[in-house]
Amino acid sequence: MHQDLEQLKQRISLLEYLQRRNWTARRSGSRQEFVGFCPFHAETRPSFYVNARKNLFYCHGCERGGDLIRFVELSEHLSFRESLAYLKQHMAAAPESELLDKAADFYQLQLHRYSEAVEYLQQRGIRDPALIEELGVGYAPGSNLRRHLLDRGYSFDLLLRTGLINPQGRDAFCRRVIFPCRQHGRAVNLYGRSIGVAFPHRLLPRSKGGLFAWESVGAFSTVILVEGLFDLAVLWQAGFRNTTCAIGTHLTSTQLSQLGDQRGRRIYIAFDQDPNQAGQQASRLLAQHLESAGLNARIVALPPGHDPNSYFMAGATAADFLACLQRAQGL
Ligand SMILES: [Zn+2]
Repeated sequence: MHQDLEQLKQRISLLEYLQRRNWTARRSGSRQEFVGFCPFHAETRPSFYVNARKNLFYCHGCERGGDLIRFVELSEHLSFRESLAYLKQHMAAAPESELLDKAADFYQLQLHRYSEAVEYLQQRGIRDPALIEELGVGYAPGSNLRRHLLDRGYSFDLLLRTGLINPQGRDAFCRRVIFPCRQHGRAVNLYGRSIGVAFPHRLLPRSKGGLFAWESVGAFSTVILVEGLFDLAVLWQAGFRNTTCAIGTHLTSTQLSQLGDQRGRRIYIAFDQDPNQAGQQASRLLAQHLESAGLNARIVALPPGHDPNSYFMAGATAADFLACLQRAQGL
């Protein structure tokens, strides 16, 4: 039990634990001290202090204080032994996801502060402010995320674990338009599209999760599957709300089973029409796989060289795209 305790204390910081319970803190003078409202009683001025280095809290209002275990005992009304078990369970859930949410929120706030980001979206045909908001589109200028998160008390180590910063301590995303990939309302990864000279596509080095927006798209019996989030955005904007995206042409087993969660579902595969046939070949392989799983797959042929995004950018209308769907063939 003693060993358990030491391990727990090493692995969860009190500050991280409080943040996961939506405790809002600000730095108080020294780099290691944070202050916020006391979770144990109502107050008008923050008097609850956390020392991040010592992993201890103290409230000047109610004079309660102690370590993480003590905090759990008090807040959950548990015994010492029960608190240990509670924390172990708590650790199984991923704090990374919360951090990704915080990063996505931050990037979303940056979007309108950088004209190059808004101009880029316009250039890609994404103009509807409500849609941009709904998708949670943001912008990573590349210089300020690390400081923002460290100032809120998240550890360097956690930032590194999520992939949001690289081992040199720099923001992983630089000059990229960001789309958060969410599952059950929580970010599981972030996709960044370079607006500069860097390689166009980038996901954090973690699972890409399920199909994009499957919570809403999964309700449809006919689904359009695209490669990229800019394809999805123009199609949603044009009214094709049954569009989902796998981020790439390779589907994970989770994504494949999602497509198959409704028997007989029709899936329109609208991948890129690449000059080297890569998109077309991926479409055929996927269609075969879906058919063998009892689904109804159709391959959408866009004009040569186009993906749904570039097709709309070249002037296609919703009616034009609908005609492509109607012409789409099975294997
Ligand atoms: Zn208090």
